[in-house]
Amino acid sequence: MRAMKNNDILQRFLFDGTDIRGEITTLESSYQNIVSRHNYPPAVDRLFGEFIAAATLLSATLKFPGIISIQARGDGPLSTVMAECSSGTKLRGIVRGDLEAAANHTGLQDLLGAGTLAITIEPEGGERYQGIVPMDAGSLSQCLEFYFQQSEQLPTKIRLSANAELAAGVLVQQMPNTGDTEKNIAYWEHISALLDTVKSEEQLSLSHNDQLYLLFHEEDVRLFEPQHMQFFCSCSRQRTESALINLGVAEMRDIIAEQGQVLITCQFCDEEYRFDESHIEALFNGPEATVH
Ligand SMILES: [Zn+2]
Repeated sequence: MRAMKNNDILQRFLFDGTDIRGEITTLESSYQNIVSRHNYPPAVDRLFGEFIAAATLLSATLKFPGIISIQARGDGPLSTVMAECSSGTKLRGIVRGDLEAAANHTGLQDLLGAGTLAITIEPEGGERYQGIVPMDAGSLSQCLEFYFQQSEQLPTKIRLSANAELAAGVLVQQMPNTGDTEKNIAYWEHISALLDTVKSEEQLSLSHNDQLYLLFHEEDVRLFEPQHMQFFCSCSRQRTESALINLGVAEMRDIIAEQGQVLITCQFCDEEYRFDESHIEALFNGPEATVH
């Protein structure tokens, strides 16, 4: 059955002759590469996997190239869960909190407590904007559906699922329509009721084609070419240097005095960036200053 699955891909689909479009994704090694270096409890993996699948689906709703991130902050055992998708194909994410305490919890509200969910969009070369919704629904998909209702007035249905190996998601969305509204509303209700019937085990075992057939076999669904997703961290030595410059020379010299070096570990990929005294002085004074 494993070979049947479309892994690490995102696909668009359309209901022919209607104003409803969809996105469907299954992530395997891209998801594994994000979670495998951390030893999260299974319920944390499942929630994090939903965030990563959601970031993938939402990236496809952008009308321009850019970065979209979904970040939850709460007062529960986990303080932060964040997933980001850039250029439509590159995924990364982080979880912060008390993982030991989190091991006894499951689900969005139980793991994150009360808080907010921020959806941030950074268009390439454009202005960044953010929508924030309360995290008071029972699931991430419900919070995101509310976000689309509030921010874009686009009726949207999302189903997310993850286990230790895979993260999967499917989204249907009604585009702003111009035609026969009553008919469109009825058709939207029909499609969203069908989407509601998808089961987690189907999302995690069936190919996209089979999932869509199972859900919508009486509709005219057109499935588009897959887009391949991967884990990719955008950190670099240059970006790390900019962050150090922002912290200021005094703080950097304090750390050098105490620890002999400045060690920055990327929270997304565990890459280590080390700076010794001469690096730090060169950062703030230019290379000449350290030579003389
Ligand atoms: Zn990194």
